[in-house]
Amino acid sequence: MKSCAQCQSTYIVTDTDRQFYKRISPTFNGKTYQIPEPTLCPECRLQRRLSFRNDRKLFERTCDKSGNKLISMYPSGTKTAVYDREIWWSDEWDPKDYGQAFDFTRPFFEQFYELDQKVPHAHTIAFDTDNSRYTNSNAFVRNCYLCFTGNYLEDSFYCYNAEKSKDCMDCLFVYDSELAYESVHSSNCYNTAYALHSKGCSDSMFLENCTSCKNCFMCFNLNNKEYCIMNEQLTKEEYEK
Ligand SMILES: [Zn+2]
Repeated sequence: MKSCAQCQSTYIVTDTDRQFYKRISPTFNGKTYQIPEPTLCPECRLQRRLSFRNDRKLFERTCDKSGNKLISMYPSGTKTAVYDREIWWSDEWDPKDYGQAFDFTRPFFEQFYELDQKVPHAHTIAFDTDNSRYTNSNAFVRNCYLCFTGNYLEDSFYCYNAEKSKDCMDCLFVYDSELAYESVHSSNCYNTAYALHSKGCSDSMFLENCTSCKNCFMCFNLNNKEYCIMNEQLTKEEYEK
């Protein structure tokens, strides 16, 4: 039982944890550098890991190079300079101006942090986006609003980690889909709402773990079915009624 250095709650380091730290401890020139046991509880460790990168909070600020107004993943007043992404990718500044010699007598991460604080940051992490100002951590997105960590996404709102999809809203981990609403961990779906862990389904609502179903409502664990309500097989006429 240990006490967290940050929140003082108690947590356990198990023998399995100790074996893991021993296994990943590196050896250089015959000397093993033992990874120390954690000083923070698992929740505080998770907070620290997640705070490294901000995906989903956006702030109004100005570009430190051009003065342009930006919607950025960094609030105004950050120590680091923040450049408009277009400028950041351009030759208007030279990253080599920020080079520093590595001091082998000091810890790596201390020096990495100093470098990170000196070098200008792009205002969002994104590549090839169009008309998607209020988004972050995306590539190849068009006409999207408040979508994060997505690729090849078009005409979508409020999605997280949606890829190769179009006309989607409130989706999480949805791939190769169109007209999906409030769907999670689903792929190859068309015109579905509230689909969870489902694949290749269309014109359906409230599905869980269904594959290749169409015109189904409130069904789970079905494959290749049509016109089912609560897993009960109906005729087309009954279903439509
Ligand atoms: Zn803690």
